[in-house]
Amino acid sequence: MTPRNLITPAQNTWCPGCGNFTIQHTLKTILATREKEGHSLDDVVLVSGIGCHAKIADYLNINSFYSLHGRTIPVATGLKLANPNLTVICCCGDGDCYAEGLDHLLFAAKRNIDITVIVHDNRVYGLTTGQYTPTSPEGFHGKSTPAGTVEAPFNPLELVLASGATYIARGYTKKMQQLEALIKGGIAHRGFSCIDVLQICATFFPAADYYTPRVYDPEPYDRSDFVRACATIREWDYSGDGKIALGVLYERSAPSFEKRKVMVPVTPVEREHRLEELLATLR
Ligand code: SF4
Repeated sequence: MTPRNLITPAQNTWCPGCGNFTIQHTLKTILATREKEGHSLDDVVLVSGIGCHAKIADYLNINSFYSLHGRTIPVATGLKLANPNLTVICCCGDGDCYAEGLDHLLFAAKRNIDITVIVHDNRVYGLTTGQYTPTSPEGFHGKSTPAGTVEAPFNPLELVLASGATYIARGYTKKMQQLEALIKGGIAHRGFSCIDVLQICATFFPAADYYTPRVYDPEPYDRSDFVRACATIREWDYSGDGKIALGVLYERSAPSFEKRKVMVPVTPVEREHRLEELLATLR
């Protein structure tokens, strides 16, 4: 079998030095390895949203769906439910799935649907030339906040942990080898996986000098330990001088949404009985 040319002829318009190149190259490596191992790439679907990150759907030669802003996850969820045999990878931006699409992210984590979400977290709306997002640091001077933001960022990994995500990781586009392992792990994980990637925006938030001295790999710990994972995730609140833990920060196994038992509708009388039974289990 001739290996697929994974890069399309579409003209790449990302800025020189953009971290999106790292994510694209990482996915290309993972897909090429998958093909070499005998898996068909026809079973992989990439869903992207709107933003600089989303052009990855134009640049990678696999099945893809260029969705609406903030709506990558409902599309990915629908694809997985329609065909549970697909490997569904969702590339989204921080402005995309931590702002307009936040509810979808949290509910996908709650359901534990078996999709892999890769957040290109450049902490700015790059495509629209530099407005602040939910993870921009307080005081960020962007196009919409010339006097600086007065809001503190939230910690997205704390939110997905609290919502029930079963695989949570943080990567950095200056650490490509590690990023490859994190994304591979997310794809192999059966259930909802979320990889927050600190992606350098060379034009509007070139934060490498801030990240590089702060990132570290935590000592091994039981990754299913919620309290420990939460403490590690909270070491850095997306601003300030905290150490920034990279790697798989939380992982546990749980039945994924699409594999759960199909519920059968009941009659109104049966419904009363079922409700009583359910309430009895809660006492
Ligand atoms: Fe990349 Fe930022 Fe340029 Fe967008 S604006 S392509 S995120 S460097």
